[in-house]
Amino acid sequence: MSKIKIAELFYSIQGEGRYMGVPSVFLRTFGCNFKCAGFGMPRGEVSHEATDIAATHTMIESFQKYEELPLVSTGCDSYASWMPEFKDLSPMLTSEAIVDRIMEIIPFNEWKDEHLVITGGEPLLGWQRAYPDLLNNSKMRDLKEITFETNGTQKLTPEFKEYLRKWNSEVGKELTFSVSAKLPCSGEAWEEAIKPEIVAEYEEVGTAYLKFVIATEQDFKDAQQAVSEFRGAGFKGHVYLMPVGGVESVYALNNKAVAIMAMNAGLRYSDRLQVPLFKNEWGT
Ligand code: SF4
Repeated sequence: MSKIKIAELFYSIQGEGRYMGVPSVFLRTFGCNFKCAGFGMPRGEVSHEATDIAATHTMIESFQKYEELPLVSTGCDSYASWMPEFKDLSPMLTSEAIVDRIMEIIPFNEWKDEHLVITGGEPLLGWQRAYPDLLNNSKMRDLKEITFETNGTQKLTPEFKEYLRKWNSEVGKELTFSVSAKLPCSGEAWEEAIKPEIVAEYEEVGTAYLKFVIATEQDFKDAQQAVSEFRGAGFKGHVYLMPVGGVESVYALNNKAVAIMAMNAGLRYSDRLQVPLFKNEWGT
């Protein structure tokens, strides 16, 4: 039986993108190929918030549970889902244990209108081989909608691509790739982060859209440049602009400005409902 290292598994409302407002199960896998330490920092600088927390954790093993970890206002707000220092907080669970836990946390203990979000970290890194076992579980039969929240840098393996194609072709099923492609404001290098051919391939098996985190005019220009590269590779999906900010003080600084930017460019705006609604706490 397949196992997946799970950073978080919780039930909430999707706060971003196409399924904003939809009741959703979030399966956060462990591991990421990026660090995104530039978010919320002046260009060229990196955040040390997460590394400082990690140093404390390693020295005195201060955090026993995810919920005890401090939230950060700069860098990756999901830092504990990939930093090796926190790997002890993410258990390796069998697909059966994951499904049982999902059944416990959804309101009627069976799928109704809830949607499954497989997120990270980067959920398409190494776990592609494990998802079929999870989704083939009989208790997952009535699940209708899945979103992979990915940074758009990981190719689908031929086997998983074929599996997803079949899953998505069943009546009433809908597969989505929410691609949060990382712009230079994340601190990641363009050539590592913008992978148009890979994202165009996601559209062969499901619906894909791009979601860019924006803080400044320069980020907006970078997003436009990225969109033109994605379009050049044949990408047809929608484009969302989303304000930076894992904490309310940062989010509130630029949400309206980003909404207006999106509107004026004929692009979609994505909120981050989890920030004003739940303060972006763990498990939301
Ligand atoms: S890709 Fe996502 S999870 Fe990975 S470091 Fe960047 S923001 Fe964090």
